[in-house]
Amino acid sequence: MRIEPIHARYPWRGESRQAVGEAGVDLAALVAEDAAVVERGVERVVWALEDGAVGDSHDIDRIELLSYPVARVLVSLVDEHVLTRKYAEAEAATAFERFTADFADTTEFKSASKPRLTLRELLAEFDLSGSVRAADGTVGDGSAVVSDGASREFHVEVGTYLDLVADQRGDEWRLVNRALADGEVLVDGEELLTLLRQAVRHRVDDGLPLSVPETIADELAEEAENLRERLSELDLTRDIDTVVPELFPPCMKHLLDQVQQGDHLEHHSRFAIASFLTSIGMTTDEIVDIFEVNPGFGEEATRYQVDHIRGATSPTDYSPPACATMQSYGDCIGKDEICKDEINESHPLNYYEHQLDEAEEDDLTDWREAREDGDGESEDPEDGEAEDAEDGEAEDAEA
Ligand code: SF4
Repeated sequence: MRIEPIHARYPWRGESRQAVGEAGVDLAALVAEDAAVVERGVERVVWALEDGAVGDSHDIDRIELLSYPVARVLVSLVDEHVLTRKYAEAEAATAFERFTADFADTTEFKSASKPRLTLRELLAEFDLSGSVRAADGTVGDGSAVVSDGASREFHVEVGTYLDLVADQRGDEWRLVNRALADGEVLVDGEELLTLLRQAVRHRVDDGLPLSVPETIADELAEEAENLRERLSELDLTRDIDTVVPELFPPCMKHLLDQVQQGDHLEHHSRFAIASFLTSIGMTTDEIVDIFEVNPGFGEEATRYQVDHIRGATSPTDYSPPACATMQSYGDCIGKDEICKDEINESHPLNYYEHQLDEAEEDDLTDWREAREDGDGESEDPEDGEAEDAEDGEAEDAEA
């Protein structure tokens, strides 16, 4: 299969990956020898960070297409949750812009003049042909989705719908607020496009971070370091900034319990919980307060470790480990349905973000505010209140 303009326009498609495979591209040789591809790969990630899209396509299809796997490798080397999320969102935003334009393009000579994706092809790309049907019986090429957006309706199987809206913000996407009949959810054309954008995001996010061979990592070390610096300059690593321990993933609840009970924690476990707490916006003083009840944590050592993790006394602002790393160290404890079904065992921060998104804003009480309101009565974050706390852990954590 030759590399075609449509592959460069939609590099995350199965057909595009096949074109890369059939072109016999050796990634190690590519990053060592093709500066233009690496440059466009870096540009994709920088744009993702700063503009929420991946920038204009390169004029040469081969460069544009190959820059996509290079960008995924760069994101994997930096291995920061916030960058992975922003990158996947940016690829999805660009794809959304492009397929919306393709669907709207009704010029007579469209197929001859430029590559164009149809709605039917996009649904097939994500195996959605059987679970999305147009209310008027024809899916078509997508033109009507855009031009008559409000007037066209689609039925989406409820399981598919729930998968696609899993991390979509806004009450209007909640199943209780949707028309549901015979196991199908009714959406309009604009909403269908949003669901497809989410499908692209999931596709791009899938498998990140990749395990990168050392030779490739060495070739891209400088680019990865520059991206890390840009990331820390933008100060995005702690954009969650809400502390609701009841919504922590099971692994972090378990580690926090161990801290509170005075158990000895291995270095990797201490790193995991401390980096998780810094990533959600806790200050060094707040973390030291929590850890101080543990006889194994001297204040000075804890303060030093936390400052190091947050990048105050080191060049790197560390993220908590991804699920795969947690599992390899035996720190993935109590894995639940949300881990398996909602975040695909990707990252503890994804779990926490998902839970924050799901919770009603008014029901969330930040542990730090609760502590101030309670006049410092409890130093224990698991004594905090969230309306949907379900497991009574606050009782266990009685100081
Ligand atoms: S799957 Fe991930 S989030 Fe869930 S318990 Fe394991 S490490 Fe934590």
